[in-house]
Amino acid sequence: MTIDGSWQRAARGAGLLSPDGRIASTIFAEMSGLAQATGAINLGQGFPDEDGPAEVLEAARKAIADGVNQYPPGTGMPVLRAAIASHQRRFYGLTVDPDREVLVTAGATEALAATILALVDDGDEVVTFEPFYDAYGGLISLARGIHRTVPLRRPGFQPDLDELRATVTDRTRIILVNNPHNPTGSVLSRETLEVIVELAHRHDAIIVTDEVYEHLTFGVTHVPVATLPGARERTVTISSAGKTFSTTGWKIGWLISTPELVTAILAVKQFLTFVNGAPFQPAVAVGLELPESFFRGIAETLQAKRDLLTRGLVAAGFDVSSPQATYFVVADAAPLGYTDAATLCRELPALAGVVGVPISAFCHEELGAEYASLVRFAFCKKTDVLERASAQLARLGR
Ligand code: PMP
Ligand code: GLN
Repeated sequence: MTIDGSWQRAARGAGLLSPDGRIASTIFAEMSGLAQATGAINLGQGFPDEDGPAEVLEAARKAIADGVNQYPPGTGMPVLRAAIASHQRRFYGLTVDPDREVLVTAGATEALAATILALVDDGDEVVTFEPFYDAYGGLISLARGIHRTVPLRRPGFQPDLDELRATVTDRTRIILVNNPHNPTGSVLSRETLEVIVELAHRHDAIIVTDEVYEHLTFGVTHVPVATLPGARERTVTISSAGKTFSTTGWKIGWLISTPELVTAILAVKQFLTFVNGAPFQPAVAVGLELPESFFRGIAETLQAKRDLLTRGLVAAGFDVSSPQATYFVVADAAPLGYTDAATLCRELPALAGVVGVPISAFCHEELGAEYASLVRFAFCKKTDVLERASAQLARLGR
C-alpha cells in the first residue's frame, strides 16, 4: 500500500520522515531510548525524576475518586480557566476573561499545534529563533508554512536585533517566541521583546509566545510578552503545568489570547483532541493557586541543581554557559577535543554512562555548524543523580 500525500512529501523534505516513509523519532525519544538500552543516566529528555507538590497530586486522586472522569468542557473546566486567569493577574497584573480568553489544551504542544494550524496558510512565514524546540519545525511544516529563523548568538544566546528586523517581513504570519528558551536556557531582554512587538505591528504579524518555563528562572524576573504595551491584542500566550508542577505526563497546557483568536484556535483544537485530562484539570487549578513560596521554592531548588551540574561539567573540562532559566545547561565539548556533539552524544553512554542531547538537533542543517560542539544536559534530576553524572563525566577529561 502506498501512503504518500502532499503532507508526507512535505514531511520528508523537513526531515520528519525517512526516505522509506518511517517516522523519524524525536531526538528526545531517541536519547531516552539510548539511556534505557545502555543504563546510562538520562540528562537528555527534559523531565523531572521527582514528584511535584503533594497537594496537586492529591487533588487529582480525589477528582478521580469523586467521578471527574468524563469529557470536560471544550474550552477546559471553569475551575482551571479561573485559576489560569487569576494566576495571570497575581504574577503579571494581567486581567484575563476566563470564559472568553483562555483555552485549556493537551499540553503546550497542542496549544502550539492548534494555533499554528489555525493561523498559518500555505506559504505563510513563521519566524522563530534558532536553535528552536523541535516541535516548532514539525508543526510549521504540517501547516505548510515556511520556517524562517534568527540565530541566537553566543555568548549568552541572544539574537542580533538587526537580523531579527531583517527576517520579519510582510510575509510573516507568526513570530513564534520561546522565552525562557529551550534548549539554551536564555531569557530574552526587554529590548528584544519590544522589538518583537514593534515588528509584529509593522508587519501585521501575530506573536505566539511559548512560556512553559515562566516559573523556572534564576535571579531574573519573567516578563510575559503580553504585558508589553500594544502586545496583548496580537499575542497568543502558551504555557503548561508540566514544568511548573513536575507533571509532564499529565499534558495539561493552556493558551491565553483575545476572544477572536481563541475562537479561531478552538475551531482547530476541537478536532485535534477535543478535550483531555478531566481529573488533572482541577488538580492543576490547585497548583496555580499555591502560595508564592511554592513558586520561589521550585526556582531555588532548580538553581541549586543548575549550579551542581555546572560545576561537574566545568570540572570535566566542558566550557559551560550558565542558563538564566529552564531545565537545561549548554556545554561546549570542543575543549575536550570533541567537535561533533551529535557523535559525542551517541558515544557518551559508553564513555561516561550519561546521555545528553546535541544542540544541532534543534537547528536546521545550515546553522547546525555554528553549534556543532554543543550538548544540552538537563538538570531537573535528583541531587545524587547529578552528582553521579558529574563524577562519571569527569572520566572524559582523563
Ligand atoms: N515548549 C517547550 C519550549 C518545551 O520545552 C516543551 C516540552 N518540555 C513544550 C513546549 C511541550 O510542553 P507540553 O509537554 O506541555 O506539551
Ligand atoms: N520538552 C522536553 C525537552 O525539551 C521533552 C519533550 C519531548 O520529549 N517531546 O527535553
